[in-house]
Amino acid sequence: MKLSNLWNEKPVTLSFEAFPPKKDVDFDTVRFAIEQIAELKPDFMSVTYGAGGSTAAYTAEIARIVQAGHGVPALAHLTCVSSNRDRIQQELENLKAVGVENILALRGDYPQGYDPNAPRDYRYAADLIKEIRAFGGFDVGAACYPEGHTECRSQEEDLLHLKEKVDCGVDFLTTQMFFDNSVLYSFLYRAQRVGIQVPVLAGIMPVTNAAQMTQILNLSGSTPPYRFRMLLDRFRERPDAMKQAGIVYAAEQIVDLVANGIRGIHVYTMNRPDVAAKLLENLSGVLGR
Ligand code: FAD
Repeated sequence: MKLSNLWNEKPVTLSFEAFPPKKDVDFDTVRFAIEQIAELKPDFMSVTYGAGGSTAAYTAEIARIVQAGHGVPALAHLTCVSSNRDRIQQELENLKAVGVENILALRGDYPQGYDPNAPRDYRYAADLIKEIRAFGGFDVGAACYPEGHTECRSQEEDLLHLKEKVDCGVDFLTTQMFFDNSVLYSFLYRAQRVGIQVPVLAGIMPVTNAAQMTQILNLSGSTPPYRFRMLLDRFRERPDAMKQAGIVYAAEQIVDLVANGIRGIHVYTMNRPDVAAKLLENLSGVLGR
């Protein structure tokens, strides 16, 4: 199923993110967790793509399992920074062969020691989007950053690049995680002003592990509000309390987003079926499920 049909059919969509294993030995464990998440019947599941393509084959395989085994549409992520044209064509053929119809087109982070000015086939995600469009047959999503992408000098400049990216043929956007809904509302207002009209799915991360969260915050460039920092500080050493508080915080964010008319909630479930299930338990009515 092409995802752009979803927003015509449903007032609010719920999607979960899965990430494939990095090593063969982990495949069965990760697959089991992802299948449990799929059994919760989200409207779709996105499947990440390892930086540098390290889990490329697994992305297609997990997407196939989610779709064929559980009837849940898949959104396969694809990055281009470390790829050449032949490789991307091969990836597109592979995804098509397993029945994937939706791709989240990304540049990807620069690998360590990489020279960003070195000649390469794809400079930005926009270049990949054009290539996927030319290939045909896929709905195309892209990433956006309500607080601005970490490399960009200003939010204004980042937004103009985002508009250029959308104009290359993007059907929908998924946001980087954020922990303060007012950040998203302000971003949506600014995005509308530059003419971005595609659906924007709000990326929500239920925090269940404080140490991991500190690392993620550094990488993502998200600024946690005071209330959220207090929660991390208070429950850092108590995993059960941290998990409960993290799920409640995410649930509160989602209630507020839906109440304010946001049409798509994308949850970074980190391959945790227990977290996804708990969140759903609290929100089934809010999400109309
Ligand atoms: P782009 O849209 O190309 O933007 C990158 C930077 O370049 C931005 O600062 C932008 O402002 C700037 N820029 C764009 N166009 C121009 C231009 N014409 N001139 C000058 N500057 C320009 N990474 C993975 O490795 N695997 C994943 O599966 C994955 N999934 C993700 C899912 C989501 C929802 C998000 C938000 C991120 C994900 N990432 C993933 C991380 C992503 O790859 C990185 O954030 C990466 O650094 C940027 O990718 P992008 O597609 O947003 O890049």
